[in-house]
Amino acid sequence: MLAIQTDATGKSMTVNISKPHIGPDEVLIKTIGCGLCGTDLLKINLGLLRQPTILGHEVVGHVVEKGARVVDYQLGDLIVVAHHVPCGTCHYCLHGNHSMCATFKKTNLDPGGFCEFIRLSQQHLDHTTFKITDDFAWQEALFTEPLACCERSFQKLTILPGDVLVIVGLGSIGIMMTKLVKRLGGKVIGIDTDTHRCSQALSYGADKTIESIDKLHTLINEPTQSRGADGIIFTAGPAGLLNESLLWLRDGGFVNLFSHLSGEVGPIDTSRLYHHEIQIITSYSATPESLKRSFDILKHEALNLKQMFEPYRPDQFEQAVKDMNERKVYKALIEF
Ligand SMILES: [Zn+2]
Ligand SMILES: [Zn+2]
Repeated sequence: MLAIQTDATGKSMTVNISKPHIGPDEVLIKTIGCGLCGTDLLKINLGLLRQPTILGHEVVGHVVEKGARVVDYQLGDLIVVAHHVPCGTCHYCLHGNHSMCATFKKTNLDPGGFCEFIRLSQQHLDHTTFKITDDFAWQEALFTEPLACCERSFQKLTILPGDVLVIVGLGSIGIMMTKLVKRLGGKVIGIDTDTHRCSQALSYGADKTIESIDKLHTLINEPTQSRGADGIIFTAGPAGLLNESLLWLRDGGFVNLFSHLSGEVGPIDTSRLYHHEIQIITSYSATPESLKRSFDILKHEALNLKQMFEPYRPDQFEQAVKDMNERKVYKALIEF
């Protein structure tokens, strides 16, 4: 079968490998499409892979084989699946740190998302697989995993109707964060150095956008009566902005660190953090619960995220990586 393999230097190529075999509690799916995620890009760009790997974890496909003991899935079912499954019982899971669980890190799609056929284990079927019904576009369902990562982050934040959130970085994650703030009745001020992304974000629901931080204070002061923003969500941006961003916040506000920020952080004003009760809240990846909530949001609320996808053939994978790195497209969809 056809697969896209990425080596330790970050170079990707199409290869021919054998189709995985399934056990009695497993299913095999034929991939329709797999989204290219920012975390895939990070592994490619920074050369983080130790061995040739088939990346990809935002998958939609049809069930084409099922094990003898599988009852919940039938041949032909259209499903969306995510890659990591926590054990639910270890020290980390019991504390809600599911993405730090050893089982979570170990479990994966076999052999990965960017290939023609994928074996789904029983754990995947039980916890990270969802059936897509006819009334629901599969391209929209493909956002289940990335939206779940954002949604899990929101479970850690307090956002009330009317709250003002600053979102740094208006790529696909920034757009999903915008949608989640808006559905809670909050206001979004988006920042991105790219003029086009700023204007696009307005069409996705952001209230105001700005290309540089020079006039940001004015934008924040207006809707908050100079109190400061309730929260800042970093989906991208230089790490050096972190300390300065503490001055955009109201007392008791939060910084949601939702990305690997590039460059040096520089000194952080811990006195401001402490005396003004500012929290730095991080969230990494999704859990089965957030996947379920995300799937339901996508199914029942018209977020219209699918227009962010740009389709590519498997042999155009390197072009897809380049286009996403150069921010020519929000999200590449590799179609099989
Ligand atoms: Zn992802
Ligand atoms: Zn665990």
